[in-house]
Amino acid sequence: MKKIHLMKWVLEVDLQQTKEFYLKDLEMCSCLYCENYMEACRQMDSSIKLVFTMLGITPSKPSHLSEFGENEDGLRLYIGSYHVVGKLVEGEYCRDSEWNDTTTARMKNFTFGFKKELLFAPNELKTPVLQLDFEARIPWVLNEKPED
Ligand SMILES: [Zn+2]
Repeated sequence: MKKIHLMKWVLEVDLQQTKEFYLKDLEMCSCLYCENYMEACRQMDSSIKLVFTMLGITPSKPSHLSEFGENEDGLRLYIGSYHVVGKLVEGEYCRDSEWNDTTTARMKNFTFGFKKELLFAPNELKTPVLQLDFEARIPWVLNEKPED
């Protein structure tokens, strides 16, 4: 485990184990909304990419992803989770009821938080498992449009 400083947290992460997990052929949802997110990941801002790189995460492979429709600005709200091998050493966990400036950190179009209660954690991941939750405002980048 390696100690890293990431935004407002200090973490211990096992990059090797986490990277190996994300290199696996993980089963992903193939609906249009999820495909749009995955495509948008390729055009992700470099500062966001760095957050994922520091944790060993492949951004196009979230463990959970939901889309909540289009905003007035044309961006779509996505909420999801990633899991890594690691633990939180310093800083606050977030909860669904405590998703605020203290428990989360904003970077460009993403807001990140670490959740104590694990949800949708993949069984294949070695322990300790840490859950990274996010909220993101993502443009529609696919040519095909959803029908909503
Ligand atoms: Zn989907």
